[in-house]
Amino acid sequence: RAAAAAVTAHTRWVDDFPSPGVRFADLTPVFAHGPAYSAVVAALASAATDAELVAGIDARGFLLGGGMARELGVGVLAVRKAGKLPPPVQKCEYSLEYGTAAIEIPDESPSLRGRRVLVVDDVLATGGTLRATLELLERVGADIVGVTVVTELEALGGRARLESYPLTSLVRL
Ligand code: IMP
Repeated sequence: RAAAAAVTAHTRWVDDFPSPGVRFADLTPVFAHGPAYSAVVAALASAATDAELVAGIDARGFLLGGGMARELGVGVLAVRKAGKLPPPVQKCEYSLEYGTAAIEIPDESPSLRGRRVLVVDDVLATGGTLRATLELLERVGADIVGVTVVTELEALGGRARLESYPLTSLVRL
């Protein structure tokens, strides 16, 4: 597909980032290329055309989520790293290779109860970030109608941690 080919053509691979032994998929050139960005956003949005809200994960998920929301004619929600949103918030901690991280969404405003939400991030690695996001959204009553990423790093096993959700990835490596 055109979107997948554009992602493959424009992804920049960086060895030993953010730590030795890790190969980092940098999607910056994909987003900076007009036709590639448009193709990616359209392909991800088509995963759930019945969505009522797009939730993008801090920070590259914001770039995608805004475009997808426009494509679908719906609103957008920023799922933030801890400490950025004013209270009250709902928070979910999750473990990283070393230590923990936490993400937050607003509590109550907007009300997500019963709303059909499409979730997006740039890369699926171990799945910890998306898993925590989905847990948060479900805690406040959202109905997850789709989970989308541009690139899925299959060796890290993220898909297995998101088993019960409809997951779409444009490129699997
Ligand atoms: P996970 O929680 O292990 O699935 O990691 C996914 C999160 O880390 C996402 O928010 C990604 O933006 C980021 N991430 C992990 N690996 C990469 C990568 O190779 N390229 C870009 N982002 C990555």
